[in-house]
Amino acid sequence: MRPVPVVDQDCCIGCEVCTQICPEVFRMEGDDEAGGHDHHDHKSIVHDPYGAQEDKIEEAMDACPAACIHWQD
Ligand code: SF4
Repeated sequence: MRPVPVVDQDCCIGCEVCTQICPEVFRMEGDDEAGGHDHHDHKSIVHDPYGAQEDKIEEAMDACPAACIHWQD
């Protein structure tokens, strides 16, 4: 079974780096809500854990400045 990435919501600083590297897997929460774009409380969520290859996901993990993306146990 493939590992699943998770974003620790408490430490995500909403920098959007992971969503730029790997938009197939990560998305900024609230991005699809019409009109309601609040940049102050922007956090990344995993919308498709199998949307990209593991090495691409790992690239996003390594690039995360807050080191808050990890593989689920
Ligand atoms: S790279 Fe890390 S801190 Fe930045 S949005 Fe993604 S999970 Fe959050």
